[in-house]
Amino acid sequence: MAFLDNLKDGLKQVFGDQNTKKLSELEERIKPINALEPEISELSDDELVGKTAEFRKRLADGETLDDLLDEAFAVVREVSQRTLGQRHYDVQLMGGIVMHEGAIAEMKTGEGKTLASTAPIYLNALSGDPVHVVTVNDYLARRDAVWMGQIFEFLGMSVGVVNGQKAFLYAPQQDENLEEDDAERDEEGFYDIVEALVAPCERPEAYGADITYGTNNQFGFDYLRDHLSYDEDKLRQRGYAFAIIDEIDSILIDEARTPLIISAPAEDSGKLYATFAEITTHLTPGELVEEGPNTGDYAIDEEKNAILLNDSGIEKAEKSLGVDNIYTDKGVKYVHHLETAIKAKALYENDQEYVVRDGEVQIVDEFTGRILEGRRFSQGLHQAIEAKEGVTVQQESRTYASITFQNYFRLYDKLSGMTGTAMTSSEEFFKVYDIDTFAIPTNKPVIRNDMEDQIYQTELGKFDAVARRVKELNESGQPVLVGTVSIEKNELLSDYLKQEGIPHEVLNAKNDKREGEIVAEAGAKGAVTIATNVAGRGVDIKLGGVNATEKEYEEIKELGGLFVLGTERHNARRIDDQLRGRGGRQGDPGASQFFVSLEDELMRVFASDAVKRMMGSFGIPEDQPIENSMITSALERAQKKIEGFNFDARRQVLKYDDVLDKQRKAVYKKRDRILKADKEELKEFLFGLDETGEFKEVVEAKLAELDEEQFLEAAQKVSLQAVDTLWVEHLETMDQTKSSVSLRSYGQEDPVVIYKQEGKRLFENLLDSVDDQIRRLIPNIGEGEFKRERAKLEATKQKAEAAEKRGGGQEEKPQPETSDAPTHPDGSEIGRNDKVIIEKGGEKQELKYKQATRLIENEGWSLVGSARDKS
Ligand code: ADP
Ligand code: MG
Repeated sequence: MAFLDNLKDGLKQVFGDQNTKKLSELEERIKPINALEPEISELSDDELVGKTAEFRKRLADGETLDDLLDEAFAVVREVSQRTLGQRHYDVQLMGGIVMHEGAIAEMKTGEGKTLASTAPIYLNALSGDPVHVVTVNDYLARRDAVWMGQIFEFLGMSVGVVNGQKAFLYAPQQDENLEEDDAERDEEGFYDIVEALVAPCERPEAYGADITYGTNNQFGFDYLRDHLSYDEDKLRQRGYAFAIIDEIDSILIDEARTPLIISAPAEDSGKLYATFAEITTHLTPGELVEEGPNTGDYAIDEEKNAILLNDSGIEKAEKSLGVDNIYTDKGVKYVHHLETAIKAKALYENDQEYVVRDGEVQIVDEFTGRILEGRRFSQGLHQAIEAKEGVTVQQESRTYASITFQNYFRLYDKLSGMTGTAMTSSEEFFKVYDIDTFAIPTNKPVIRNDMEDQIYQTELGKFDAVARRVKELNESGQPVLVGTVSIEKNELLSDYLKQEGIPHEVLNAKNDKREGEIVAEAGAKGAVTIATNVAGRGVDIKLGGVNATEKEYEEIKELGGLFVLGTERHNARRIDDQLRGRGGRQGDPGASQFFVSLEDELMRVFASDAVKRMMGSFGIPEDQPIENSMITSALERAQKKIEGFNFDARRQVLKYDDVLDKQRKAVYKKRDRILKADKEELKEFLFGLDETGEFKEVVEAKLAELDEEQFLEAAQKVSLQAVDTLWVEHLETMDQTKSSVSLRSYGQEDPVVIYKQEGKRLFENLLDSVDDQIRRLIPNIGEGEFKRERAKLEATKQKAEAAEKRGGGQEEKPQPETSDAPTHPDGSEIGRNDKVIIEKGGEKQELKYKQATRLIENEGWSLVGSARDKS
């Protein structure tokens, strides 16, 4: 133990040393940038603008991005000062260098990461290769493009945004109120988007810009969509050179376990399940025979919950299906169907493993005997049981394309990131993505008071105490941000506060823009905001509120700044740090404290009984807290343990996905080659489909016989469709293989290794079958059979394209961002600059809507109408 601890300390020191070394290096690196400032600040606007062309020319003449770094950073800093009125702090330049180097800059909340990233973004965009800036939601993508867009636009660079349903270009020229809007943006751009500064565009245009802002989901989905496309001209993305991921831990760690999937309902699978259910009625079970062969058509292995098919069983199935060889004629999919149907018959009994109620098959929990509402057996078993019971087989969905974020982001030549909380996950970033993490010091020292946890015996006692504490703080006027681990707890706490009569905002509407606005106001006097730990992520909390005067700001400072109150420890320390970091930004005063109870999940599951006995033996009443460093460190150990589990789980997901990733890349490459081929390349591709040269003759005959253009176009489509159809089937097979290897035990063998071997074999088959199918179809182009096959393939294509539009089950739904916006009498939405009338206690005021919102939200005024009502 002592040895291990020493080792850990040693490691910490190594990392610590590395960071210190890096920081002294960075301090040296910014000196020449600072030295350029007097000279650069003398330049006229036009001369500054000219820098972009000059840099690009020098790159063309052989200089590298690294050669240009000092000047480019100095230019961006100067332009930022002239446009936005903010001059990059030295620490922001240091963070920028780290990002340019393809590493993660840990910079605390409020340090201005958005601005820090502009320097490496500009520098890398000089190359002409795409620079993608990744944000956690659509709102932040648009906010950052509008906010930072002025720097890039000044320097002659275009900025695009890809959102869920729409895409935009930063386009200030089209704004008639530019001057006013510009001033407003510089003031409020950190949370409010001046929509007039962007113009809708097509996705390829947004990707065509020098710099593109968007979410991880949209970048990932567009990659998948591009590989379902049949039209080269409509491809969205143009490459994967450099990406900066904002809040990188949220994207690469928190979201890493759910891959992106584009799926659509599968066709007529119901019939197939019925067919196989019928086949099983002709099969007779036999006995498991120790030294083989088993008797009957199949034997049941109760221990492994598996069935073993005999040749006689397979022969009977082949006869029913009318095929000679189920394996070669129909492939693994049919075999899987057959096995599943037999399993459903032999191993699952009605009223035992499941019940049939209201025409639905429902699972019975084997331990509690309760019905598991809405849950389904996976891998087609549920459908097989439905078919057996003769109830409607529910439609399944088919995956057309999928990728994990890990593998999407590994496509980039250079990947970097920024976040307030990365150091506790630096090992994962290094092992999985091969990127280093460096902690950049804050611009001003952090003086926030992070207090010891308050520990209660019961959750009830804890919530009472939280409500009391919030009330005290509220009475003093100090703003409080209360963090909870779930939306459910959010509401619970809100009820407590209502009982105490404490006015407060609850942040759990899944509306990022509204969330941003509420969070931005969380630092106002007397504000009480209840939020999940990560809600409103990315939006700064300014003391005194959004448009606070110097006096209001000072008043809140006097009161102690923002008080961050955590109501439960999260599974990951990172998320707790994220919450604490909301307070005490840019050298402001602030405090943070967690209230925990022995009934919290983390405690119940991971803290030892010893802790509970300790509490008991102190004889502490329920609503009395203790601050005990032993308990706090037990909690931290539990957190580390869970972080470790989750890291392993993510690595496991990745190990499986890595197998598929190689295959996806190979198939997509093949597909791209066909999609982007010109006539000559297409011919070459077709000629190359067999070695004997026989097929070349077939193609040449066709070329001579038919219109060349038409034939080649048809051949191209057919080839793409062959790739897609078989790839989609392959994805399914791989999925089935994965579940079967992880279910069965193979003695000492690692299931991943078996999956890999099996995957390799299946993939080779796939490649052969693709070529095979193309060879089979080409000779028929223009003939009857071709037309029939073509129609079948066309159906697949249409499915894929429909799916492409729908975006699959996991895609974020468009958010009705303005659904709660008030309207004029004619139904049109009230704009921010429109005059409205508000009222409070009989008193009325007429003012701009944007000014009114503050009064409405914070001071009890209510909107009585638009000023147009009067006319
Ligand atoms: P982070 O993403 O690091 O939490 P933001 O990018 O949201 O921080 O910036 C926080 C606040 O700091 C914003 O209101 C921004 O306008 C302000 N800010 C950032 N950099 C500077 C600077 N160099 N000078 C003045 N204000 C700055
Ligand atoms: Mg940010």
